[in-house]
Amino acid sequence: MAGGGDLYEEGLHKRAANHRPMTPITLLQRAAVVCPERPAIIHGAQTRSYRTFAERAVRLAHGLARLGVGAGDTVSLLSPNAPAVLEANFGVPMLGAVLNSINYRLEPSTIGFILAHGESKVFLVDRELAPLAKAALDKSSQQPIVVDIADALAPPGEAIGSHDYDSLLAESDPAFDWPGIEDEWRAIALNYTSGTTGDPKGVVYHHRGAYLTAMSNLMTFPMGRNCVYLWTLPMFHCNGWGNVWAVTGLSGTHVCLRKVEAEAIFRLIDAHGVTDFSGAPIIYNMLINAPPEVRRRSRHPVSCTVGGAAPPAVVLEGMAEMGFTIDHGYGLTESYGPSATCVWHPEWDELPLEERVEKMARQGVLTPSLEAVSVRDPKSLAEVPTDAATVGEIMMRGNTVMKGYLKNQKASDAAFAGGWFRTGDLAVVHPDGYLEIKDRSKDIIISGGENISSLEVENVLFRHPAVLEAAVVARPDAQWGEVPCAFVTLREAAQGASEAEIISHCRNHLAHFKAPKRVVFGELPKTSTGKVQKQLLRGRAAALAD
Ligand code: ADP
Repeated sequence: MAGGGDLYEEGLHKRAANHRPMTPITLLQRAAVVCPERPAIIHGAQTRSYRTFAERAVRLAHGLARLGVGAGDTVSLLSPNAPAVLEANFGVPMLGAVLNSINYRLEPSTIGFILAHGESKVFLVDRELAPLAKAALDKSSQQPIVVDIADALAPPGEAIGSHDYDSLLAESDPAFDWPGIEDEWRAIALNYTSGTTGDPKGVVYHHRGAYLTAMSNLMTFPMGRNCVYLWTLPMFHCNGWGNVWAVTGLSGTHVCLRKVEAEAIFRLIDAHGVTDFSGAPIIYNMLINAPPEVRRRSRHPVSCTVGGAAPPAVVLEGMAEMGFTIDHGYGLTESYGPSATCVWHPEWDELPLEERVEKMARQGVLTPSLEAVSVRDPKSLAEVPTDAATVGEIMMRGNTVMKGYLKNQKASDAAFAGGWFRTGDLAVVHPDGYLEIKDRSKDIIISGGENISSLEVENVLFRHPAVLEAAVVARPDAQWGEVPCAFVTLREAAQGASEAEIISHCRNHLAHFKAPKRVVFGELPKTSTGKVQKQLLRGRAAALAD
């Protein structure tokens, strides 16, 4: 070092040309330059090119600016998977504004809460969801400007807004000089957690994290250049796990799907040569159990990513049989979606099916955008041994962890306590370093002082041929403190299975104290992202007569 200065700093400072804020907006700009005519969005009979997609995003930015939206303002959106959602994921951030995509399966009071808590300035509403939006607005202290989206595939519906989305775009300037952002730490999205863990909390993403999530997804999942991505995953869920940006970065084709139905999925895969799709296990369950006249093996390779909940063995087996290649990912709203994946080693291909399924059921190892995903003792923060037995909490660190919870310093501080983001998920680590979730902290069942993993019991239930879906929760018990209680949906052909038979199946495959003491048959309540609402089931279990 000469003269005490840093050799590699002198005259080598950041400049406008070599240091730009990371933002996913550039991915759309690039796609529009590289392949303007390539199909960017397919929606029913309508196909739009990258030129049009980019132009409409800019028009949206201008339209919103004319409505008074600027940097730091919240723009809420209530829509099924449709072109306007993709446009909003780019057009809103162009202003430095924040996109708040709302889960449309929430009840009106919660949506009203979100609009008020996020201080929404503009509310973009798909016309099919107008009644829900209206009911939410009736219950909300916040009254944003409402823009109706008359999506081409939406059934006719009432216009509730003061503006119409397409007219707003038509009247806007496609050459609008949008301001963008100066600082990559600026918020880009506000996503409320779906509420399986209590009150919805507003998770805030920044441009840097959104960009890095897109990049990380491209390194993690099989999606390749010019991929054709079918939107079975709700776009409102963590901005489609970051894939609204990632697929655009690949100049891929987004195939929209307003409603998840097996027939449509199989049809669109064939019609458009879909190469990739993602979603919670429920989607795969639906495909595997589709009637034979609907179900078909794809004529070309299709890669799927399953995440959001642990895929039961039957799902992994069933998908393999249908010729779909599976990746298993794990993540949370707080971590922009994917944070760990079960990275597959080619030598595992040679293993017998059962062992392959065991390997694949693990949530795996960190994604490239993170510095660490580790399993630690929640108090001492010491890493658990890699013995596949010691349970700890999954903690993570890196550039794709949220900024924090909006207007909730207490929850943010608690989530980041000790220098790690604490997920609340409990896991073990295998000798090869791959982690496997055992439960969420609050889902673990403690019976007579012994921990019972609800996932372990569910996996055994899934192996019973009559069981279509299953969820296990704790039921208060005078003797044991808690005992497992199972909620089971039977396959149509197997309506006759009895409670005693299911319990005996579990006792044959599990330590007896882990077997459910009660089995309740019926449909399982789910969140819009396909996750079973265990807190509702816990209430039902507690209310069961002895
Ligand atoms: P919410 O917490 O509101 O349900 P999230 O999408 O943030 O919505 O849910 C994240 C949670 O989903 C994780 O904390 C974990 O419990 C569960 N999860 C996600 N992916 C997996 C997976 N592959 N295996 C098991 N659980 C998963």
